[in-house]
Amino acid sequence: MRGVYIISAPSGSGKSTLVDRVRQIVSGLKFSISYTTRPPRAGEKNGREYYFISRAEFEQMIRQDEFLEYADVFGNYYGTAHRFLSEAEQEGKDLLLDIDVQGAAQIKRKIPEAVSIFILPPNRTELEKRLRTRSLDAEEVIQRRLVTASREIEKYCEYDYILVNDRLEESIDALKSILLAERLMRPGAQGQKQRSADDTDLMAKAERCRLSNVRERLQPILASFEKVVARGGR
Ligand code: 5GP
Repeated sequence: MRGVYIISAPSGSGKSTLVDRVRQIVSGLKFSISYTTRPPRAGEKNGREYYFISRAEFEQMIRQDEFLEYADVFGNYYGTAHRFLSEAEQEGKDLLLDIDVQGAAQIKRKIPEAVSIFILPPNRTELEKRLRTRSLDAEEVIQRRLVTASREIEKYCEYDYILVNDRLEESIDALKSILLAERLMRPGAQGQKQRSADDTDLMAKAERCRLSNVRERLQPILASFEKVVARGGR
């Protein structure tokens, strides 16, 4: 079986830009286009960002067992169709999923060898700034997104890799390294003896993002978000 990569992040952490850039530079990746019941935003096209369908259509797909995973996110359904996994296998590509923390947990249960990556903003203030500059959301909506982000961030320890998206170019390089290093480590990949200096370098870069190696660096980031959860109430 080919690789499955899961990428999750709270809204405002710069995930879309990162994923778009990495898709351009890493070959052999198939991006799963999700189904959703949320209406398209300006500039979004059916079949490109998402397949936009009605609730009735989505529920019909659930009944027909067409989803590998699905979840209710911000009041709308989002789901990954099984067919993307089989298509990726047929095409000899790795599957890249951009899904929320609920979907990630479902995939990990079904495909334990899937590699999961959580993207974090550098701190709460930066996330708040990004949420304010990117949207015309009312203050109340921004505060709600911050509370949701804080709750999602609590799930960071369920992921294999954590990427703090501070400087974009460095984050792109780190994400690329994780994807390629995991390919090298996959059973059946070329043996260690044949590894080049470049391979060793990207494996070291990926290793720096492994959960066990970032825990300390995360403490101040997590602490700033705990305050938001406390204020938002549980
Ligand atoms: P947005 O509506 O802003 O594009 O996405 C909202 C959230 O839904 C994001 O966290 C995104 O990762 C998540 N999402 C997108 N597609 C799927 C999916 O197929 N399954 C799940 N579980 N989450 C998804």
